Amino acid sequence: MAGVIHVSSTQIPVAFMSATKQSFRRASVIRCAANTPKKRYTIAVLPGDGVGNEVIPVAVDVLCLAGSLEGIDFSFEELPIGGVALDLVGVPLPKETLIRAKQSDALLLGAVGWPKWDNNPKHLKPITALLQLRAALQVFDEPSFFCEYPFDLRFQNPKKTNQSFLPEMAAALQTNIRTVKVPATFRAVSKQSLAPFRVRCAVASPGKKRYTITLLPGDGIGPEVVSIAKNVLQQAGSLEGVEFNFHEMPIGGAALDLVGVPLPEETISAAKESDAVLLGAIGGYKWDNNEKHLRPEKGLLQIRAALKVFANLRPATVLPQLVDASTLKREVAEGVDLMVVRELTGGIYFGEPRGIKTNENGEEVGFNTEVYAAHEIDRIARVAFETARKRRGKLCSVDKANVLEASILWRKRVTALASEYPDVELSHMYVDNAAMQLVRDPKQFDTIVTNNIFGDILSDEASMITGSIGMLPSASLSDSGPGLFEPIHGSAPDIAGQDKANPLATILSAAMLLKYGLGEEKAAKRIEDAVLVALNNGFRTGDIYSAGTKLVGCKEMGEEVLKSVDSQVPASV
Ligand code: NAD
Repeated sequence: MAGVIHVSSTQIPVAFMSATKQSFRRASVIRCAANTPKKRYTIAVLPGDGVGNEVIPVAVDVLCLAGSLEGIDFSFEELPIGGVALDLVGVPLPKETLIRAKQSDALLLGAVGWPKWDNNPKHLKPITALLQLRAALQVFDEPSFFCEYPFDLRFQNPKKTNQSFLPEMAAALQTNIRTVKVPATFRAVSKQSLAPFRVRCAVASPGKKRYTITLLPGDGIGPEVVSIAKNVLQQAGSLEGVEFNFHEMPIGGAALDLVGVPLPEETISAAKESDAVLLGAIGGYKWDNNEKHLRPEKGLLQIRAALKVFANLRPATVLPQLVDASTLKREVAEGVDLMVVRELTGGIYFGEPRGIKTNENGEEVGFNTEVYAAHEIDRIARVAFETARKRRGKLCSVDKANVLEASILWRKRVTALASEYPDVELSHMYVDNAAMQLVRDPKQFDTIVTNNIFGDILSDEASMITGSIGMLPSASLSDSGPGLFEPIHGSAPDIAGQDKANPLATILSAAMLLKYGLGEEKAAKRIEDAVLVALNNGFRTGDIYSAGTKLVGCKEMGEEVLKSVDSQVPASV
């Protein structure tokens, strides 16, 4: 590591298992925690302008060297500030730089300013960034954390300083300066492509669009299917001028084993800062008897809440190639193409009060609350109306308004909104009837909108019509911010690690990520077509296998899809 600026986000993530609990400090540290039991720090590197770009590589080199002699590893994240940031995004201190700086253990700043920007208005002068940064880090409050070095190098520490280490660094400065490798420089990326991490990673292939994707493989078959979907995403993107920067983070049982909680803060931060999140699955026998707050499922509910993804889109389409894998008769299953829009962050899964208590008779009582506020119903209904509008224009709202007050309000609000969508035909159905109609005549449905718990159940039911739960993707969207994309299946512990999982649900989730999360419809179409081509070519995992087709494992199915991604020929359905 010594002597090279590592832009950590471009590194291939290592298995989280290899990181010890103590070393779990933040994402980038985990990613570098390959094998050594060394101390590790994340350093935000801000070369800035002019000589900043010359002196910082030297300092980084020295830092690495001095650290390595004292058992300290560094993970460097290069961020724009000053004039370089002005040229790049029009402000001297981009929000992303500030966020990442605050998350780091320390900052290494070069210098800002150049005659080019001298006549800018005050708020657009490079030096303004320095003042803003100092104010944001409150370094004036802690003067001992601010020291100047020769050649205008500043070392600032937002949290803590390993003071004993500073003399080492100074000593190294005098004795070990040698030729350094040129750091990754910021290339001009277009303003509209600015998002967290994109700037930092704009080191190669200028002109391409870049997105940061947080990968949450989770447990069981999650890591198997996510690694395949990642490859497919990368390949489809590269053919459409889109590059990705992947961050792998722990969730569920994997996070419990690593740090004792199902959703670490670091995972939440990384997910929030990314452009989209791709999740595998969570859960497994090992954690089944954990206390409620320490169960993997808690991590799933928490990440949905943290990202405020209230709208869950679950398509269920019977592909002609898989009609025979459906549990329904061919004439019932053929042509089914429906979308369940499920409310995801409200209702009985989150409602209070909830719990288990002992009643006055000394008997244990379990209770939950189904609760929906009008605005929660309105926003999911709007997503559903919009979705139906883009499909066949039919929306069925599913509730239990004959019994539940929460459903009465649900029906009232959905009905009221219908006048805004005159092109969408709205109907209502009780959930028990909907469950029955889904197996009796699923073709009657186009778009279904329903609450959290009914949507959970109905979408699993719909999955069986399509042949396998291993085929169904989902997208969870918020008002703004990154979406969460995941297959609807669980971690399938019964087949985990046996190369038996069907990766198509996750691959199709990656296609939804492109389409609904990033607006990259062409790349999404490539993936959808590639899945159809692989199926047309007869490849099947065990869950969708039927006589006369080729039985393959998870990896081989992934390879077949990858091969097909390159195909320019649209797949015939
Ligand atoms: P599951 O979806 O994991 O498995 C149900 C059945 O479907 C199993 O027989 C499994 O082998 C099969 N299956 C699932 N996905 C498959 C795939 N991609 N390819 C082939 N076959 C597949 O549901 P479960 O057994 O009820 O739950 C197992 C664990 O998963 C539990 O811990 C549960 O809490 C968790 N879970 C997680 C999620 C999630 O992460 N979103 C969803 C449901 C369940």
